[in-house]
Amino acid sequence: MPDADRVHPAPRLIPGQAMRKLIQLLEKQSDAVVDLQSKLVSIPALGPSNAGSGEQAKAEFMHKYLNDCGFQEIIHINAPDERVECGYRPNLATWIQGQDSSRTLWIISHLDIVPPGDPALWQSDPYTLVVDGDTIIGRGVEDNHQSIVSSVMAARAFMELGIQPQINLGLIMVSDEETGNDYGLPYVLDTRKDLFKKDDLFLVPDFGTSDSTMMEVAEKSMLWLKISVQGRQCHASTPVKGINSLVASSAFILKLDELHMLFPRENDLFSPPGSTFCPTKKEANVPNINTIPGMDVFYLDCRILSDYAITDIIDRARELGTVIEQNYGVHIHYEVVYQQQAAPHTDPSSPVVRSLGRAIEKIYGVHPRPQGVGGGTVAAFLRHRGYSAVVWATLEGTAHQPNERSSIRNTLKDAQVMAMMAINP
Ligand SMILES: [Zn+2]
Repeated sequence: MPDADRVHPAPRLIPGQAMRKLIQLLEKQSDAVVDLQSKLVSIPALGPSNAGSGEQAKAEFMHKYLNDCGFQEIIHINAPDERVECGYRPNLATWIQGQDSSRTLWIISHLDIVPPGDPALWQSDPYTLVVDGDTIIGRGVEDNHQSIVSSVMAARAFMELGIQPQINLGLIMVSDEETGNDYGLPYVLDTRKDLFKKDDLFLVPDFGTSDSTMMEVAEKSMLWLKISVQGRQCHASTPVKGINSLVASSAFILKLDELHMLFPRENDLFSPPGSTFCPTKKEANVPNINTIPGMDVFYLDCRILSDYAITDIIDRARELGTVIEQNYGVHIHYEVVYQQQAAPHTDPSSPVVRSLGRAIEKIYGVHPRPQGVGGGTVAAFLRHRGYSAVVWATLEGTAHQPNERSSIRNTLKDAQVMAMMAINP
């Protein structure tokens, strides 16, 4: 962590006093939230694979905004991308220095949005902010402007009050979260390793529940398997001349349920606690009723506890398939459509989870719980690199939907949680 030029007056308030002042200030920032959100909503930042020109204009705006707020050092980490006019996808990092500058609480948000979708489903222009009491509406207000704004409000409150956080408070705003992440967080982590330390705390406020209680710390591995069962087609009036792939396929679908017994471990972080193996999509076979189908194709969606290797799942599925091949005379072909090995969990008793949990209890008055989810999140990029990351925010859950909305009150309460983490890490 380079030394910040800015020297804070830093009256040595005891943490309780400092926190009270921060809460009082943050409670009064509704106008600042609306002001910043209205600017962000008016600058669409769509990635090139969403037919957009990238995040540069929004990053330029944020640079100026952060500069005006008093952030002295703002680092640009530009990932080259020839598909956009400026030739790169911007990522920003800035921070305020803590009393102990050897550790940093990083809050990671993303600049890009998804397209508005069918305009007929919107009751207002997606790129013009609508304010309705505590609710604001527009594309991106929840995903992920709310968290950009919370993190900026939290850091700005420290600067305005001249209070120094216990550890550094760092803000990162990345590109490309919605379209694959190649030019975003992993690029930042790999090209600017010097910014990060193993003891740093990482909060990714990009997923959460409206009651604030879900702290995401773990993921299941994912496997999508395409299974093709090859029999022999014939006329349905003379079934013995063929091999009915639909019958063999049906038997296999039922047999695959044995995977649950072969991989029985459970982890209470997750709901459901065990691995899941679900037959899902089924391709059409013959178009007419009087033909025995010679080929049947179905898919298996697997969400697997990270203790198990994906290759073991595939091997066991094939072994079960061998029994079907022998009993029905079919040949079965397997194709991996998608696989992602889960990152190691963030320890539920690690400092970042405990600090976040304390802050949520204090600010929201609820009892948060570390939990796992059935799919991948951006935090995996951090966890794979050995950093402790937790995903949390207080969200209505309207991301990617028409009339996307966000709560001003929750934006400021989340900012208070972030501030408290920086005071009491
Ligand atoms: Zn998001």
